[in-house]
Amino acid sequence: MDNFEAIRKSVVNAAANSRFYKELFKDIDVNAINSFEDFRKLPFSDKHDLRKAYPLGIQAVPDEEVVRIHSSSGTTGKPIIIPYTRQDVDDWATMFARCYEMAGLTNLDRIQITPGYGLWTAGIGFQAGCEKLGAMAVPVGPGNTEKQLQLMVDLQSTVICATSSYALLLSEEVQKRDLRDRIALKKGIIGSERWGSMMRDRIAKELEIELFDIYGLTEIYGPGIGIDCPAHEGIHYWNDFVYFEIIDPTTGEVLPDGEDGELVITTLKKQGAPLIRYRTHDLTRIIPHKCSCGSEYPMIGRIFGRTDDMIKVKGVNIYPGQIENTLSNVSGVSSEYQVIIEHKSGKDIMTLKVETSSLDDKDKTEIQVVDTFKKLIGIKIKCECVPMGSLPRSEKKSKRVFDYREQ
Ligand code: ZN
Repeated sequence: MDNFEAIRKSVVNAAANSRFYKELFKDIDVNAINSFEDFRKLPFSDKHDLRKAYPLGIQAVPDEEVVRIHSSSGTTGKPIIIPYTRQDVDDWATMFARCYEMAGLTNLDRIQITPGYGLWTAGIGFQAGCEKLGAMAVPVGPGNTEKQLQLMVDLQSTVICATSSYALLLSEEVQKRDLRDRIALKKGIIGSERWGSMMRDRIAKELEIELFDIYGLTEIYGPGIGIDCPAHEGIHYWNDFVYFEIIDPTTGEVLPDGEDGELVITTLKKQGAPLIRYRTHDLTRIIPHKCSCGSEYPMIGRIFGRTDDMIKVKGVNIYPGQIENTLSNVSGVSSEYQVIIEHKSGKDIMTLKVETSSLDDKDKTEIQVVDTFKKLIGIKIKCECVPMGSLPRSEKKSKRVFDYREQ
C-alpha cells in the first residue's frame, strides 16, 4: 500500500525549500493536501521546466549539505543539474544494492561495470550499489572492448552491467573469438535503454547468461530505482523511496493500474532535489497483481517506448517498441534496425532498414517485413535488407530514427 503520509511530507518539503517548487506551487495551499485526490490536482513537473531552473534552482537544502551533483545528458538545450546530499547518495546505493540482491547477486560476485562515470549517473550508481552489497566492482567504464574482454577472462567477472547495445556488441565479440568457455559470466544487469525481446534473447543466448532490466533516470537518483526479478514478470520498484503514477500522456489524467501510459514519479525521501509528479516520458503500466516471486514490492511492465520517441507517419503514432515487435515476427532478421522517414511528392515515406542473415532471400524477407508491418501497425512502408552486422552498434544509445521531413 502506498504511504500517503510520505507523499504529503515530500510535497510540503518541496514547496517550502525548493525554489523551483516554491514558484510552481505558489498559488496552492500544500498543507491542505489530505488525499490522493488532492495530490492528483498538483501540476506536473517536466524536464523543460527543470531546465529553466538551471543550474541549481531545484536545490532544496543549504549548500553545505550538497555533496555531489549529477546531470542529465541534455542532448538539446541546457542539461538538468541534480544536487545530492550525503543521505541521497546513501539511499541511492541502498536501492541499487537491493536491485543486485533482487537479481540474486551476493558479495562473492564480481561485477564488471561498463556504463560511463562522471556527470552521468550510470557508472557511479552501479559502483556504489556493488560496494554496498560487498561484491567486487570491476569499474572498467565504457568502451575499450579489448580490455573488457581481457578483464572478463582474467578476473572471471560473474556479472556484466551494460547498455543493451553494448551487451550485444560484447556478446558478438565473445562469440567471434570463441571466448565463452574462458569467461565466468552468469548474469547481466542491463540499463539505460529500451530494448526488445529479440535483442534480449540474442544477448542471453550468445553469452549464456540471465538478464535483468534495471530502471531509473538521472533526475530521480539514476538507475537502480527498480529491476526485474528471477520470475521476470515485471520491474519491481522501491515504493518506500518513489511513488509511481501512470497518466494519459495527452490529457494528463491518472490511469487505472494495468493501463498503458506515461510514468510519473514523486520522490519520497529525496533531500537535495525532491521531485513531485515528474513526467518521465517513459511508457509503461503498473502491473495490478503481486509477482509470483513473492516480493511485496509493486511492479511496472517493461518500458515499451518514450512519448518523445513516438514518430508520426501517415497520421499513425509509431513507437520503437512496435517496430521491434514487428521484427520479432519475421524470421531471418536481427533486432537491429534503422528508420528513414522522408516526405516526397506530398507523401510520407518510411523505409525500414533491417539486417538479414541470408541476402539470397532478401526479396522474400523484405516482402515479409512490409506485410507484417502493415498487419501489426497499419501502414505501408518500404523495407531494405542489409547484411547482418552492418548497422551500427554503439556503446551508448543507438540512434535509430532519421527523420528528414521538413517541419
Ligand atoms: Zn518478482
